[in-house]
Amino acid sequence: MLCYDTCIKYAQEKHFCPHCNIRLSCCETPPFHIGDGLGWGSDVMFICLNDECPVYVKGWEHIDLQYGHNGTYRYMLLPGEKKGDFLMVGSPDAFTGSIIDPEALKQQNVRYQNEKKALAQLETCVEEKNLEPVLALILDEKAGLEGRLRSCRILAEVNDLNCIDSIRNHEFKNTDVEQAVNMAIITLLKANFKKECPYCAEIIKQQAKICMHCNKELG
Ligand SMILES: [Zn+2]
Ligand SMILES: [Zn+2]
Repeated sequence: MLCYDTCIKYAQEKHFCPHCNIRLSCCETPPFHIGDGLGWGSDVMFICLNDECPVYVKGWEHIDLQYGHNGTYRYMLLPGEKKGDFLMVGSPDAFTGSIIDPEALKQQNVRYQNEKKALAQLETCVEEKNLEPVLALILDEKAGLEGRLRSCRILAEVNDLNCIDSIRNHEFKNTDVEQAVNMAIITLLKANFKKECPYCAEIIKQQAKICMHCNKELG
């Protein structure tokens, strides 16, 4: 997990490639150091991702002659250093997937802060009849599994039928959460003497023989 403040700070720094004068991209460091295996000592590095950079263009031939394999170099600079280095890359798109985008990072941070707040609110949501944090966690596919499953268990206790619509309109990617939430809805409906119409999915009285929404006869 990268440190948010540090990443934002680095992603906003401007460094330029001494070989092509293009601004270097702030990227996450790869998980291992090809040289000494000691790590990079930094979460980020600045890399020249310009495919017209002479370092990159000439590197293909150099590596082919020197090592007999496919690859080239990119200019890279570690934070806090003045002098950069050449980094061997095997393909044109190496590192393009690890560019740090400050906007995306800010959004991720907002999501993370909201998750933290919702988790804290879970403690009091039953007595406050506050559906919001419970629903937020259940519907947040990026939230931690433990918090989401805990929210599913709390859902019936909060006892607010308004949760059903948003849950039914949500596509769950995690089957554990999906199962837990379905169980919670069954409990919630039963406690309120309700059921879902099998034809139109509207919530109706448990004893209803005809759905008041779609007029279908219920068995
Ligand atoms: Zn360059
Ligand atoms: Zn119906």
